[in-house]
Amino acid sequence: MNTSSPVPTEIDLLAAKPLARNQTPKRVDLHCHTLASDGNLTPVQLCLRAVELRIDLLAITDHDTAAGYRQARDYLSVEPLPLQLIPAAEFSCGWRNINVHVVGLGLDIDHPAALEAFAFLRTARLQRAEMIGHKLDKLRMPGTCAGALALAGESQIGRPHFARFMVEKGYVSSVDAAFNRYLGNGKVGDIKAVWPGLEQVVDWIRAAGGVAVLAHPLKYKLTATRLRLLVAEFKAAGGEAMEVVTGRQQNDWSFLAELSRLNGLEASQGSDFHGVGLGWGDLGGIAPMPAGCSPVWQRWLANECAKTE
Ligand code: AMP
Ligand code: MN
Ligand code: MN
Ligand code: MN
Repeated sequence: MNTSSPVPTEIDLLAAKPLARNQTPKRVDLHCHTLASDGNLTPVQLCLRAVELRIDLLAITDHDTAAGYRQARDYLSVEPLPLQLIPAAEFSCGWRNINVHVVGLGLDIDHPAALEAFAFLRTARLQRAEMIGHKLDKLRMPGTCAGALALAGESQIGRPHFARFMVEKGYVSSVDAAFNRYLGNGKVGDIKAVWPGLEQVVDWIRAAGGVAVLAHPLKYKLTATRLRLLVAEFKAAGGEAMEVVTGRQQNDWSFLAELSRLNGLEASQGSDFHGVGLGWGDLGGIAPMPAGCSPVWQRWLANECAKTE
């Protein structure tokens, strides 16, 4: 007999009973993407999936845009769900010739500093798309800039759109192959010149009232010495937290936990979920935070309690 419970419908989800507002969240995911950047779910679909997975506190962190958060927030304002959203985005920046990501949590997405950041980064991404297109033209893969732009539509354009177009055209056999050969770290399509510096991004986030969180520190594949330098310089620039537990990483949390404690940084956690069928971990698929870390999301729990008093 099949004992698995049926998948809830949208109606079931919308009818779900809200959590008591002062209840401690059980599941927290502060890093994920929607169709506003390179995810494959709409912001509403993402929220419904979060509720289905019993996530209580969610930050939608699209690349260099808060458009996904904005849509989700507007939806929840008319169709309440038992889900608390933190306004957020994942910002691209440059640090010592590598491309580093900083999650901004709790920022005012309409603050002039946030609007300046989003406008700057949108332009940077469009310039980079042209540069990637030129590089790939020279390698006899014509039309990738226009093709990637068409696939992106309103979304923030990124390398995944190039990869998808290259697969569609038969230039490569898979998205993985596109990254491994042409778009990934150190390859011809990995153009870093357009990004603002780490300090600039941290300044924008803080000016907009947000908390700057160093994203997925192990993804940069730095030596331990360089990773320590990155974390120290991030802290010196005004960073206040770092991701300690992140999606698709199996066992280095104690090292990251120690780095966060040594540098006086709060700890964040997020799956970096990009959608179904993309090979990323699922929303909320995160290991427990190591003991001794100071969770960055306490700030928003405190706000929630304050509001209900
Ligand atoms: P961009 O934001 O345009 O610099 O592109 C980086 C994004 O590409 C990351 O956020 C991932 O979503 C995606 N990505 C990076 N490496 C790979 C890979 N090897 N395979 C598939 N997607 C990747
Ligand atoms: Mn991405
Ligand atoms: Mn990232
Ligand atoms: Mn991400």
